[in-house]
Amino acid sequence: MIAKPRKIPVHIVKLEALLRRIPSHHPKRPQIEADLAKRRAGYKGESALDYHLSFLPQKEYVIFHDLRLQSGEYFFQIDTLILTSNYILLIEVKHLFGTLTFEPEFQQLVRSTVDAEDVFPDPIIQVKRQASQLQKLLKDHKFPEAPIETLVVITNVLSRITTSQTTDYLRRYIIRDTVLVNRIQRFTFQHSTPIYPPKLIKKAIRILNKSHTEARFDPLSAYDLHQNELIEGTHCPRCNKIPMRRLHGKWLCTFCYHQSKIAHIESLIDYAHLIGKTITNKKVCDYLKVERDVARRMLKSLEVMEVGNTKGREYMIEVEKLVEKLEKKDID
Ligand SMILES: [Zn+2]
Repeated sequence: MIAKPRKIPVHIVKLEALLRRIPSHHPKRPQIEADLAKRRAGYKGESALDYHLSFLPQKEYVIFHDLRLQSGEYFFQIDTLILTSNYILLIEVKHLFGTLTFEPEFQQLVRSTVDAEDVFPDPIIQVKRQASQLQKLLKDHKFPEAPIETLVVITNVLSRITTSQTTDYLRRYIIRDTVLVNRIQRFTFQHSTPIYPPKLIKKAIRILNKSHTEARFDPLSAYDLHQNELIEGTHCPRCNKIPMRRLHGKWLCTFCYHQSKIAHIESLIDYAHLIGKTITNKKVCDYLKVERDVARRMLKSLEVMEVGNTKGREYMIEVEKLVEKLEKKDID
Protein backbone atom coordinates (compact mmCIF):
# COMPACT_ATOMS: atom_id res chain seq x y z
CA MET A 1 0.00 0.00 0.00
CA ILE A 2 1.03 3.59 -0.46
CA ALA A 3 1.14 5.18 2.98
CA LYS A 4 2.41 8.53 1.71
CA PRO A 5 1.66 9.25 -1.94
CA ARG A 6 3.89 11.26 -4.22
CA LYS A 7 2.69 14.81 -4.90
CA ILE A 8 4.15 17.51 -7.11
CA PRO A 9 6.62 19.19 -4.72
CA VAL A 10 5.49 22.62 -3.45
CA HIS A 11 8.95 23.89 -4.38
CA ILE A 12 8.16 23.23 -8.07
CA VAL A 13 4.68 24.80 -7.79
CA LYS A 14 6.21 27.92 -6.22
CA LEU A 15 8.91 28.25 -8.88
CA GLU A 16 6.26 27.95 -11.60
CA ALA A 17 4.24 30.71 -9.91
CA LEU A 18 7.35 32.87 -9.68
CA LEU A 19 8.19 32.43 -13.37
CA ARG A 20 4.64 33.38 -14.31
CA ARG A 21 5.00 36.61 -12.41
CA ILE A 22 8.42 38.01 -13.15
CA PRO A 23 9.02 39.91 -16.39
CA SER A 24 10.43 37.96 -19.35
CA HIS A 25 13.69 39.97 -19.34
CA HIS A 26 14.29 39.86 -15.59
CA PRO A 27 17.99 39.08 -14.95
CA LYS A 28 17.15 36.40 -12.35
CA ARG A 29 14.96 34.47 -14.79
CA PRO A 30 17.63 32.15 -16.28
CA GLN A 31 18.71 31.00 -12.81
CA ILE A 32 15.11 30.34 -11.73
CA GLU A 33 14.41 28.46 -14.97
CA ALA A 34 17.51 26.31 -14.48
CA ASP A 35 16.54 25.53 -10.88
CA LEU A 36 13.02 24.59 -11.95
CA ALA A 37 14.36 22.30 -14.72
CA LYS A 38 16.58 20.54 -12.17
CA ARG A 39 13.70 20.08 -9.72
CA ARG A 40 11.40 18.81 -12.48
CA ALA A 41 14.01 16.26 -13.61
CA GLY A 42 14.34 15.02 -10.03
CA TYR A 43 10.59 14.67 -9.72
CA LYS A 44 10.36 12.90 -13.08
CA GLY A 45 13.02 10.44 -11.94
CA GLU A 46 11.23 9.71 -8.70
CA SER A 47 7.92 9.28 -10.53
CA ALA A 48 9.58 6.74 -12.84
CA LEU A 49 9.78 4.38 -9.84
CA ASP A 50 6.01 4.27 -9.42
CA TYR A 51 5.49 2.00 -12.41
CA HIS A 52 7.97 -0.57 -11.11
CA LEU A 53 6.72 -0.41 -7.53
CA SER A 54 3.16 -1.06 -8.71
CA PHE A 55 4.20 -4.69 -9.32
CA LEU A 56 4.82 -5.30 -5.61
CA PRO A 57 2.03 -7.01 -3.62
CA GLN A 58 0.14 -4.17 -1.90
CA LYS A 59 -0.31 -5.94 1.40
CA GLU A 60 3.32 -6.78 2.09
CA TYR A 61 4.98 -3.51 1.07
CA VAL A 62 4.13 -0.17 2.64
CA ILE A 63 5.50 2.67 0.54
CA PHE A 64 6.27 6.26 1.57
CA HIS A 65 7.41 8.88 -0.95
CA ASP A 66 9.29 12.09 -0.14
CA LEU A 67 9.65 11.89 3.59
CA ARG A 68 11.44 14.72 5.36
CA LEU A 69 12.17 13.68 8.91
CA GLN A 70 14.09 15.13 11.81
CA SER A 71 16.98 13.54 13.64
CA GLY A 72 18.30 15.72 16.45
CA GLU A 73 18.43 19.22 15.05
CA TYR A 74 18.89 18.13 11.43
CA PHE A 75 16.36 17.15 8.80
CA PHE A 76 16.92 14.33 6.36
CA GLN A 77 15.04 13.60 3.17
CA ILE A 78 14.15 10.13 1.90
CA ASP A 79 13.04 9.75 -1.73
CA THR A 80 11.25 6.44 -1.13
CA LEU A 81 10.94 4.29 1.98
CA ILE A 82 9.55 0.75 1.76
CA LEU A 83 8.46 -0.84 4.99
CA THR A 84 7.89 -4.58 5.32
CA SER A 85 7.40 -6.76 8.38
CA ASN A 86 10.99 -8.06 8.10
CA TYR A 87 13.07 -5.11 6.89
CA ILE A 88 13.09 -1.54 5.61
CA LEU A 89 14.43 -0.34 2.28
CA LEU A 90 15.53 3.23 1.54
CA ILE A 91 15.84 4.33 -2.07
CA GLU A 92 17.76 7.36 -3.32
CA VAL A 93 16.79 8.24 -6.88
CA LYS A 94 19.15 9.80 -9.42
CA HIS A 95 17.79 10.97 -12.75
CA LEU A 96 21.04 12.32 -14.20
CA PHE A 97 21.92 11.83 -17.86
CA GLY A 98 25.42 11.49 -19.30
CA THR A 99 28.24 9.29 -18.09
CA LEU A 100 28.03 8.71 -14.34
CA THR A 101 31.33 7.70 -12.78
CA PHE A 102 31.13 6.54 -9.19
CA GLU A 103 34.35 7.20 -7.28
CA PRO A 104 33.78 5.73 -3.80
CA GLU A 105 37.41 6.32 -2.81
CA PHE A 106 36.73 10.06 -3.00
CA GLN A 107 33.05 9.90 -1.94
CA GLN A 108 31.93 11.48 -5.19
CA LEU A 109 29.89 10.94 -8.30
CA VAL A 110 31.12 12.62 -11.48
CA ARG A 111 28.68 13.30 -14.27
CA SER A 112 30.20 14.01 -17.71
CA THR A 113 28.25 15.33 -20.66
CA VAL A 114 29.38 16.81 -23.97
CA ASP A 115 29.41 20.31 -22.46
CA ALA A 116 30.40 19.89 -18.86
CA GLU A 117 31.58 17.84 -15.93
CA ASP A 118 29.71 18.07 -12.61
CA VAL A 119 30.64 16.57 -9.27
CA PHE A 120 27.96 15.35 -6.82
CA PRO A 121 28.28 13.91 -3.32
CA ASP A 122 28.34 10.10 -3.29
CA PRO A 123 24.65 9.06 -3.18
CA ILE A 124 25.54 5.73 -1.50
CA ILE A 125 26.91 7.59 1.48
CA GLN A 126 23.86 9.89 1.47
CA VAL A 127 21.35 7.03 1.61
CA LYS A 128 23.39 5.17 4.25
CA ARG A 129 23.40 8.29 6.40
CA GLN A 130 19.61 8.45 6.02
CA ALA A 131 19.46 4.82 7.19
CA SER A 132 21.31 5.54 10.42
CA GLN A 133 19.21 8.65 11.05
CA LEU A 134 16.03 6.64 10.48
CA GLN A 135 17.31 3.86 12.75
CA LYS A 136 17.77 6.43 15.51
CA LEU A 137 14.32 7.93 15.00
CA LEU A 138 12.67 4.48 15.17
CA LYS A 139 14.65 3.63 18.29
CA ASP A 140 13.48 6.87 19.92
CA HIS A 141 9.92 5.69 19.28
CA LYS A 142 10.72 2.30 20.88
CA PHE A 143 10.58 0.21 17.69
CA PRO A 144 12.60 -3.00 17.68
CA GLU A 145 15.66 -2.74 15.45
CA ALA A 146 14.93 -3.91 11.89
CA PRO A 147 17.55 -4.26 9.15
CA ILE A 148 17.63 -1.27 6.81
CA GLU A 149 18.69 -1.91 3.22
CA THR A 150 19.71 0.97 0.93
CA LEU A 151 19.77 1.40 -2.83
CA VAL A 152 20.67 4.14 -5.30
CA VAL A 153 18.38 3.80 -8.31
CA ILE A 154 19.32 5.35 -11.65
CA THR A 155 16.17 6.18 -13.60
CA ASN A 156 17.49 8.00 -16.66
CA VAL A 157 17.86 5.75 -19.72
CA LEU A 158 20.22 8.34 -21.19
CA SER A 159 22.88 7.58 -18.62
CA ARG A 160 25.88 5.30 -18.73
CA ILE A 161 27.03 4.00 -15.38
CA THR A 162 30.73 3.46 -14.92
CA THR A 163 33.14 3.30 -12.01
CA SER A 164 36.72 4.09 -11.20
CA GLN A 165 37.23 0.57 -9.84
CA THR A 166 35.72 -2.86 -10.38
CA THR A 167 33.96 -3.47 -7.19
CA ASP A 168 31.10 -5.56 -5.84
CA TYR A 169 30.45 -2.74 -3.41
CA LEU A 170 28.97 -0.57 -6.17
CA ARG A 171 27.01 -3.43 -7.69
CA ARG A 172 25.39 -4.02 -4.36
CA TYR A 173 24.13 -0.45 -3.98
CA ILE A 174 23.60 0.97 -7.47
CA ILE A 175 20.97 -0.38 -9.82
CA ARG A 176 18.74 0.74 -12.66
CA ASP A 177 15.01 1.06 -12.05
CA THR A 178 14.29 -1.84 -14.43
CA VAL A 179 15.74 -4.37 -11.95
CA LEU A 180 14.34 -2.74 -8.81
CA VAL A 181 11.51 -5.21 -8.21
CA ASN A 182 13.90 -8.08 -8.73
CA ARG A 183 16.28 -6.68 -6.14
CA ILE A 184 13.46 -6.06 -3.66
CA GLN A 185 12.35 -9.68 -4.01
CA ARG A 186 15.90 -10.77 -3.24
CA PHE A 187 15.95 -8.63 -0.06
CA THR A 188 12.62 -10.15 0.95
CA PHE A 189 14.06 -13.63 0.49
CA GLN A 190 17.17 -12.75 2.54
CA HIS A 191 15.26 -11.23 5.46
CA SER A 192 12.97 -14.01 6.60
CA THR A 193 12.56 -13.12 10.28
CA PRO A 194 9.42 -11.08 11.06
CA ILE A 195 10.20 -8.07 13.27
CA TYR A 196 7.21 -5.77 12.83
CA PRO A 197 3.79 -7.36 13.50
CA PRO A 198 0.80 -5.61 11.81
CA LYS A 199 0.23 -3.49 14.91
CA LEU A 200 3.76 -2.04 14.71
CA ILE A 201 3.43 -1.44 10.98
CA LYS A 202 0.34 0.64 11.72
CA LYS A 203 2.24 2.54 14.39
CA ALA A 204 5.14 3.17 11.98
CA ILE A 205 2.75 4.53 9.33
CA ARG A 206 1.25 6.90 11.89
CA ILE A 207 4.59 8.07 13.25
CA LEU A 208 6.37 8.51 9.93
CA ASN A 209 3.49 10.47 8.43
CA LYS A 210 3.20 12.60 11.54
CA SER A 211 6.95 13.28 11.65
CA HIS A 212 7.08 14.44 8.03
CA THR A 213 7.76 18.20 7.81
CA GLU A 214 7.61 20.09 4.52
CA ALA A 215 10.69 22.19 3.85
CA ARG A 216 10.04 25.93 4.01
CA PHE A 217 10.76 27.77 0.80
CA ASP A 218 10.22 31.48 0.30
CA PRO A 219 10.90 32.16 -3.40
CA LEU A 220 11.26 35.94 -3.01
CA SER A 221 13.95 35.76 -0.34
CA ALA A 222 15.63 32.76 -2.03
CA TYR A 223 16.24 34.86 -5.16
CA ASP A 224 16.53 38.18 -3.37
CA LEU A 225 13.48 39.59 -5.10
CA HIS A 226 11.00 42.21 -3.95
CA GLN A 227 7.24 41.93 -4.12
CA ASN A 228 7.03 44.99 -6.40
CA GLU A 229 9.06 43.16 -9.07
CA LEU A 230 6.16 40.73 -9.56
CA ILE A 231 3.54 41.25 -12.26
CA GLU A 232 0.08 41.72 -10.79
CA GLY A 233 -3.20 40.68 -12.39
CA THR A 234 -5.13 37.49 -12.99
CA HIS A 235 -3.17 35.00 -15.07
CA CYS A 236 -4.71 32.86 -17.78
CA PRO A 237 -4.91 29.23 -16.58
CA ARG A 238 -4.37 28.05 -20.15
CA CYS A 239 -1.50 30.20 -21.52
CA ASN A 240 -0.20 31.81 -18.28
CA LYS A 241 -0.33 35.35 -19.74
CA ILE A 242 -1.20 38.27 -17.48
CA PRO A 243 -3.63 40.05 -17.14
CA MET A 244 -6.95 38.52 -18.06
CA ARG A 245 -9.78 41.02 -18.51
CA ARG A 246 -12.93 40.92 -16.46
CA LEU A 247 -16.02 41.03 -18.70
CA HIS A 248 -19.61 40.38 -17.64
CA GLY A 249 -18.64 38.39 -14.56
CA LYS A 250 -16.07 36.25 -16.40
CA TRP A 251 -12.35 36.38 -17.11
CA LEU A 252 -11.24 36.68 -20.72
CA CYS A 253 -7.69 36.11 -21.97
CA THR A 254 -6.93 38.58 -24.77
CA PHE A 255 -4.00 36.42 -25.92
CA CYS A 256 -5.59 32.96 -26.34
CA TYR A 257 -9.28 33.94 -25.85
CA HIS A 258 -9.73 31.45 -23.03
CA GLN A 259 -12.73 32.28 -20.83
CA SER A 260 -12.98 31.36 -17.18
CA LYS A 261 -15.20 32.05 -14.21
CA ILE A 262 -12.59 30.90 -11.72
CA ALA A 263 -9.19 32.11 -13.00
CA HIS A 264 -8.80 34.40 -9.96
CA ILE A 265 -8.52 31.35 -7.70
CA GLU A 266 -5.26 30.23 -9.30
CA SER A 267 -3.94 33.78 -9.09
CA LEU A 268 -4.79 33.94 -5.39
CA ILE A 269 -2.93 30.65 -4.93
CA ASP A 270 0.10 32.29 -6.62
CA TYR A 271 -0.23 35.14 -4.15
CA ALA A 272 -0.18 32.73 -1.21
CA HIS A 273 2.86 30.92 -2.62
CA LEU A 274 4.86 34.06 -3.36
CA ILE A 275 3.73 36.86 -1.07
CA GLY A 276 1.74 35.63 1.89
CA LYS A 277 -1.17 33.57 3.10
CA THR A 278 -3.30 36.53 4.19
CA ILE A 279 -4.65 39.34 2.03
CA THR A 280 -6.82 42.43 2.57
CA ASN A 281 -9.82 43.30 0.42
CA LYS A 282 -7.93 46.34 -0.89
CA LYS A 283 -4.96 44.20 -1.87
CA VAL A 284 -7.25 41.77 -3.73
CA CYS A 285 -8.52 44.78 -5.75
CA ASP A 286 -4.98 45.90 -6.64
CA TYR A 287 -3.69 42.42 -7.31
CA LEU A 288 -6.57 41.08 -9.41
CA LYS A 289 -7.47 44.52 -10.81
CA VAL A 290 -11.11 44.36 -9.77
CA GLU A 291 -13.56 46.70 -8.01
CA ARG A 292 -14.11 46.50 -4.27
CA ASP A 293 -17.53 44.84 -4.43
CA VAL A 294 -16.29 42.27 -6.98
CA ALA A 295 -13.37 41.40 -4.68
CA ARG A 296 -15.74 41.06 -1.74
CA ARG A 297 -18.07 38.77 -3.68
CA MET A 298 -15.16 36.62 -4.82
CA LEU A 299 -13.83 36.20 -1.29
CA LYS A 300 -17.32 35.40 -0.03
CA SER A 301 -17.89 32.73 -2.66
CA LEU A 302 -14.54 31.15 -1.77
CA GLU A 303 -15.61 30.95 1.89
CA VAL A 304 -12.21 32.21 3.02
CA MET A 305 -11.59 32.64 6.71
CA GLU A 306 -11.40 36.16 8.12
CA VAL A 307 -8.76 37.23 10.59
CA GLY A 308 -8.35 40.51 12.48
CA ASN A 309 -10.93 43.22 13.24
CA THR A 310 -13.10 45.20 10.79
CA LYS A 311 -10.47 47.88 10.26
CA GLY A 312 -7.50 45.62 9.65
CA ARG A 313 -9.49 42.66 8.39
CA GLU A 314 -7.57 40.12 6.36
CA TYR A 315 -8.56 36.95 4.60
CA MET A 316 -6.72 33.64 4.79
CA ILE A 317 -5.77 32.08 1.45
CA GLU A 318 -5.85 28.40 2.32
CA VAL A 319 -4.11 26.83 -0.66
CA GLU A 320 -5.20 23.23 -0.05
CA LYS A 321 -8.84 24.24 0.32
CA LEU A 322 -8.72 26.30 -2.88
CA VAL A 323 -7.00 23.52 -4.84
CA GLU A 324 -9.73 21.17 -3.66
CA LYS A 325 -12.37 23.62 -4.86
CA LEU A 326 -10.66 23.87 -8.24
CA GLU A 327 -10.54 20.10 -8.57
CA LYS A 328 -14.18 19.67 -7.61
CA LYS A 329 -15.18 22.78 -9.57
CA ASP A 330 -17.08 23.66 -6.41
CA ILE A 331 -17.50 27.35 -7.22
CA ASP A 332 -20.52 29.57 -7.82
ZN1 LIG B 1 -4.59 32.67 -22.38
